[in-house]
Amino acid sequence: MKKQSCSFCGSAKEETKLLIAGIDAQICDNCTEQAYNIVMDELDTNIKSKKSKSDFALPNDLTPVGIKEYLDQYIIGQSEAKKYMSVAVYNHFKRLKQVNIDDVEIEKSNILFVGETGTGKTLLAKTIARFLKVPFTIVDATVFTEAGYVGEDVESMLSRLLQSCDYDVEAAQKGIVYIDEIDKVARKSDNPSITRDVSGEGVQQALLKMLEGADVLVPPQGGRKHPEQQMVKVNTKNILFICGGAFAGIDKVIARRLNTQVIGYKNEEEEEIDNDNLLQYINHTDLKSFGLIPELLGRLPVLTYLNPLTEDTLISILTEPKNALIKQYQKLFELEGVSLLFDKEVLVYIAKTSLDLKLGARGLRTILEVILTDAMFELPSQKDIKEFVVDITYATGQISKSKLSKLKAA
Ligand code: ADP
Repeated sequence: MKKQSCSFCGSAKEETKLLIAGIDAQICDNCTEQAYNIVMDELDTNIKSKKSKSDFALPNDLTPVGIKEYLDQYIIGQSEAKKYMSVAVYNHFKRLKQVNIDDVEIEKSNILFVGETGTGKTLLAKTIARFLKVPFTIVDATVFTEAGYVGEDVESMLSRLLQSCDYDVEAAQKGIVYIDEIDKVARKSDNPSITRDVSGEGVQQALLKMLEGADVLVPPQGGRKHPEQQMVKVNTKNILFICGGAFAGIDKVIARRLNTQVIGYKNEEEEEIDNDNLLQYINHTDLKSFGLIPELLGRLPVLTYLNPLTEDTLISILTEPKNALIKQYQKLFELEGVSLLFDKEVLVYIAKTSLDLKLGARGLRTILEVILTDAMFELPSQKDIKEFVVDITYATGQISKSKLSKLKAA
């Protein structure tokens, strides 16, 4: 019988601790280990050697006012939020550029947006990322649970960021992560020890480290960490985190605080409180009462709010932004050689319907789709029609025969 030996180093079976036999070759424990290391090194350099495609410096002449002007082209109203965002982003980039010659280190200015759903929080984050041309990802805080429980580890948000820039680690380290529904990780009760709060405080604790800046080992494909999975190290020090949430019911917390504050202190100059938009008075204490832990709040120093949408804002959203919905549909029709026109009354009607259905700005598209589907179906085969005017009779007719009208009645 042929003497068994390692096909790679030639060691005889007796000289090895273990000899693994293949179809017509064998490998010893030593060579297996070496091969493993070669494979790991190779994969690692593959990821690292992807040269960072861009250096994300802001143009030299750019100012916070310039950033806001850009945002103005896409986002209607919300000037307070846009101002805070512009300053935070501007400072973030100044911080990236700073050369540390003294002990003054500028801290990161992660942002927290509070505002009802559909008021433009995600749009703001998306628009700024497009403007800065940095890797950007949106994650939903509701999927996160404390490590070891069903759900995702918070690290998975960095996997998505990496995926968004084709695993360019350098680029990802200067990216922006938008964490939506951050209010859903609020502590469920004031007493943290009653039950295990795996999707609440545990997640907040896990977020802390990441928001502040740390080396985080990220599973490149996302999901849970497996011991055998190769990890990529991402430093989050220069990643800008923008959190957003509706914080339903926080208006009551704010009202309670404002009422207790004013008792006994009211004087002539005291501003009248605008009860219809209490969010404008929000501060970190309210968020703490809502269930966010103070340590996490400390890492979200920029706090701002978005105004609820009014009928007028909705009409502006329909028509004014650079890629306004009406402009998009007009473009679609134009490609068929048809000019699409809307009576002013129709725009008011669409805005009102969206408010009635409590769909916010998200509803505008749904409603337009309902109004225009028949036209989009028929016009391409009616080559002689060059103009299509949507008047109020046509619009209301289309809505009343749709499923939306049932929603309205409900
Ligand atoms: P949120 O994140 O606050 O729930 P989004 O940013 O996702 O809301 O808004 C939903 C959609 O509504 C956006 O894609 C956009 O088309 C529209 N929208 C909302 N607010 C505005 C705004 N202020 N200006 C322009 N469009 C808006």
